[in-house]
Amino acid sequence: MSKRSAIRRDYLLAQEVIISPGRAARPKNHKATKPKIDQRVATSCFFCPEKLDYNNVIELLPPNSAKKWQVAAINNIYPAVEMDNQQALGKQEVIIDTPRHEQSLADVTIDELAMVLKMYAQRTIALSKQPPLDYILCFKNYGHDAGASLEHSHSQVFATKILPLAIRAELSAARRYRRRTGHCPYCDMIAKEVMAAERLIWQDHNVAVIAPYASRFPYEAWIFPKRHQDNIGQASQVELRSLASGLSLILKQLQTLGMAYNICLHQVISATDQHFVIKVQPRGNIWAGVEIGSGLIVNSMPPEEATVFYRSNLSNI
Ligand SMILES: [Zn+2]
Ligand SMILES: [Zn+2]
Repeated sequence: MSKRSAIRRDYLLAQEVIISPGRAARPKNHKATKPKIDQRVATSCFFCPEKLDYNNVIELLPPNSAKKWQVAAINNIYPAVEMDNQQALGKQEVIIDTPRHEQSLADVTIDELAMVLKMYAQRTIALSKQPPLDYILCFKNYGHDAGASLEHSHSQVFATKILPLAIRAELSAARRYRRRTGHCPYCDMIAKEVMAAERLIWQDHNVAVIAPYASRFPYEAWIFPKRHQDNIGQASQVELRSLASGLSLILKQLQTLGMAYNICLHQVISATDQHFVIKVQPRGNIWAGVEIGSGLIVNSMPPEEATVFYRSNLSNI
């Protein structure tokens, strides 16, 4: 591959990135930064099963598991949006990913990770029945650079009435594509990427994991269900397990690189022609003057090289 930079455009959006091989953020530049567990924090952690406020629990998995839960959904006690605030209407929840304080999502088993995704699905279904909520973002911050503030591994759900601008742009681009071709743009894109294989990190019968052509972040990975579905609430148990397998192999590799990351899953209740995707966006590039000023993002890790990296380590997982 050429070592010269190239501007690439997103599959669907008028969003451009500069893929710039040879700049910083190579694997060797990352130190392993798995946070050290602070025992004083661990013994007073209110996400651990013994200290959790069960009055604040919304849902447990397995159901009715009392203090033996594997995943717990609780109300966010510091929400930015609330159902009774017309000025900022929405709902925020926290999902405690594991009962074990010291574990990250890269450490849990595939079945345990599938149960975290099952909780994303359950909360998506429950919130989609609460009008006027229309947008449901399930997300996770891992590592200080990605905004994580508490040691105990947790995800969050952020649901609002309004759709963020970027999501509105994506939906209208998807609808234009469908009007023109009769197809879902992501179904077509997945088929092309699987066929070309250059950016295909892993696949099984249900799921394809790709490094997107215009990756905005080094080692960015998108985990798609192959069957067209609009949100994670529609995924079968088998599909959730495949999604967990794909997600796990990415998170284990990012842990070896010591990279912070965000996991994001955007869902719009009123839009039936979305193709849901789990995006893993590692935070290896600091957005500076070019990004803030021009909106053009510089990424030093070409997705084709990220694919080679992930694939070469598959046998270690
Ligand atoms: Zn804890
Ligand atoms: Zn589709």
